[in-house]
Amino acid sequence: MSSTVISDIVTLVTNDPSLDGSPLGLVRNAAVVIEGDRVVWTGESSKAPATDNRVDAGGRTVLPGFVDSHSHLVFAGDRTEEFNARMSGRAYSAGGIRTTVAATRAATDAELEANLVRFLDEALRQGTTTFETKSGYGLTVEDEARALRLAARHTDEVTYLGAHIVAPEYAEDPAAYVALVTGEMLDACAPHARWIDVFCEKGAFDGDQARAVLTAGRAKGLHPRIHANQLSYGPGVQLAVELDAASADHCTHLTDADVDALAAGSTVATLLPGAEFSTRAAWPDARRLLDAGVTVALSTDCNPGSSFTSSVPFCVALAVRDMGMTPDEAVWSATAGGAAALRRTDIGRLAPGAYADLTLLDAPSHVHLAYRPGVPLVAGVWRRGVRAV
Ligand SMILES: [Zn+2]
Repeated sequence: MSSTVISDIVTLVTNDPSLDGSPLGLVRNAAVVIEGDRVVWTGESSKAPATDNRVDAGGRTVLPGFVDSHSHLVFAGDRTEEFNARMSGRAYSAGGIRTTVAATRAATDAELEANLVRFLDEALRQGTTTFETKSGYGLTVEDEARALRLAARHTDEVTYLGAHIVAPEYAEDPAAYVALVTGEMLDACAPHARWIDVFCEKGAFDGDQARAVLTAGRAKGLHPRIHANQLSYGPGVQLAVELDAASADHCTHLTDADVDALAAGSTVATLLPGAEFSTRAAWPDARRLLDAGVTVALSTDCNPGSSFTSSVPFCVALAVRDMGMTPDEAVWSATAGGAAALRRTDIGRLAPGAYADLTLLDAPSHVHLAYRPGVPLVAGVWRRGVRAV
């Protein structure tokens, strides 16, 4: 197995606190050694071991590839008109998802997969090396299983979201739809997924329905995660902690009891500022969560309705500008935080044994991700030890 050193890194973010005592584990004038698909060494350039190959980082910054732990990329069509109308004054509601459901059902497998790959490439070029993605735009047994099957060709982090909204055919009988989601549809979907998710919100699924969905999934070997407290206060966050969900996602409307529950449990709060940006909604309060000791992840929620961005750097900039995060905290949350939200320790950090997933920034430090918003700073990406960008 050949080894490669990436040297002349002016700022290296490792997320390995053993190196400098800080969460980011910063090393100046650093190098990273890769062997096969793994990191085998990090430290000061002058102390790097001999390797077969050498890449010069040119005095730039290297950090772990972004871990985007929340996206909805198996879909067809777009919702430009809805966005345009909303930016002209109309409120966002969960119902717009139906538009995408109709387009997704009508698409061929090849069309759906081509669309998925397009967004994965887009995300990779912006430094994302791991992504989670969900079903939820099929809402029939066949269409949900198809979405998961297609997603599983491209990522290990696949989430069954049959409970995205009540399928239009069941509008008059939501209980029957929950029975389908927790019965026949779950049986068809569980073999293709790692996670189960539910949109716990007024207009989607209430606390009892969400509990039924997540516990049924857990009985089939899927791990829970949840869309919680996005548009209003609700039971989602408390349910997530009670069921030891890996992540409660959105967390925009939280009571003190919700924050306390997150701080006491092991559920990550995943914040998705692209959604608030794209719906002109109030920002989630990251500062409040961090000060309470909650683990926070940052992710794109990339989807055609409420957050049509695949850019983690954009989310980092929003989190720093509008959600009270420091640049260090936002970068940690977009890398190690995302890994925590997926209960992974082999990604989101650059330490011996972790996957060699790295992003090279054309900048003197990671702070530039927030300092220079909208600028394409990503100059290189390695995924599993292979240069991909
Ligand atoms: Zn979502």
